[in-house]
Amino acid sequence: MTIGLLKEPDFETRVSLIPETVAALTKKGISVQIEKDAGVKAFWNNDEYEKVKAVIKSRSEVLQSSDIILSIHPPADSEIEKLKSKILIGVYQPLFNQSLMQQWANLGITVFSLDMLPRTTRAQVMDVLSSQANIAGYKAAILAASIYSRYFPMFMTAAGTIAPAKVLILGAGVAGLQAIATARRLGAVIEVFDTRPAVKDEVMSLGAKFIEVEGAADASKAGGYAVEQTEDFMKRQKAKIAESIAKADIVITTAQIHGKKAPILITEEMLNRMRNGSVIIDIAAATGGNTPVTKNNETVTYKGVTIVGNSNLQATMPSDASKMYGKNILNFMNLIITKEGQLSLNWEDDLVKGSCIAHNGELVHDKIKAIES
Ligand code: NAD
Repeated sequence: MTIGLLKEPDFETRVSLIPETVAALTKKGISVQIEKDAGVKAFWNNDEYEKVKAVIKSRSEVLQSSDIILSIHPPADSEIEKLKSKILIGVYQPLFNQSLMQQWANLGITVFSLDMLPRTTRAQVMDVLSSQANIAGYKAAILAASIYSRYFPMFMTAAGTIAPAKVLILGAGVAGLQAIATARRLGAVIEVFDTRPAVKDEVMSLGAKFIEVEGAADASKAGGYAVEQTEDFMKRQKAKIAESIAKADIVITTAQIHGKKAPILITEEMLNRMRNGSVIIDIAAATGGNTPVTKNNETVTYKGVTIVGNSNLQATMPSDASKMYGKNILNFMNLIITKEGQLSLNWEDDLVKGSCIAHNGELVHDKIKAIES
């Protein structure tokens, strides 16, 4: 069994495995080959991988002689032929990339996309969405504090009193909760919206105010994810958000609906009412953003409001992000590799089945097959 780790595309700083996680594999007798400089942007040099018995190779050698290829992002189209009949593990957003998945299936690639893992208790140790969202939420609050031209905490000094920053957080999932905790530690006063009433207690225990909007669609059967809301709910929710946003200095938006475009929660009218100098960090940018002016991977200014569109804030902390991602990958590989280092795919296991997109020349994931028809 040989595992190959690819260097990510230029825009990515993270790497699938750090030396610590590689060591856990090589100790089991599994060969690990690392593309030269794959870990450099996450501050792991080639010699640190070599110390834990990995072998440094060229990209084409890794592609050619590995059974399992680890790559967070899809390898280039021109390389895909080299992946024929191999196993590919990463985060490929198959709900948005169905035709690419079909191409990979046609080549007999077995594809595991960890963003499709069912969100069950057993899956938590390999839940890459959670580990990375945690970092994104933390960094969203830090970034907002650094861009904002005023203080976060309240100060009473001889030179005058500074009021605490008012932070509004839309979406209290993994990222939103971490953003609340971080902004609170910095001394801000926080209001929060979410469509899942179950998060109210968590929000309040972090010291923030939860603003309820009655009549949200029941998401209890959506596997931990939010569902689309009715027009009536969205209208009433927007009216309440408009009240909060007019007072807010910082808005952190994280609202997403799995596999769909992110909901627009902040309208242009609301942006017009925001204070000059206020800041929005939109981490739902990659799926369209929670505002109509968000641009993914760009910072725009709208009438004095700075709007940062960034769904990859975890890449600004590549060392910790790779450490956590690598631990998730290791836990996932423990599901598909036996103690003796042999590949064993148990299709009765909901985690194996739920994250596998293509196998044996076919798309095998029900949700992805449903897009096709
Ligand atoms: P996400 O990134 O898909 O969405 C972020 C948040 O936006 C969610 O809390 C969602 O309810 C909220 N949202 C969606 N539409 C909204 C709207 N119109 N207005 C306001 N908020 C809106 O979610 P996530 O952070 O990945 O996960 C959400 C939840 O899933 C977690 O809090 C947890 O309960 C569950 N979860 C379970 C596991 C597990 O058991 N393995 C792992 C991760 C998450």
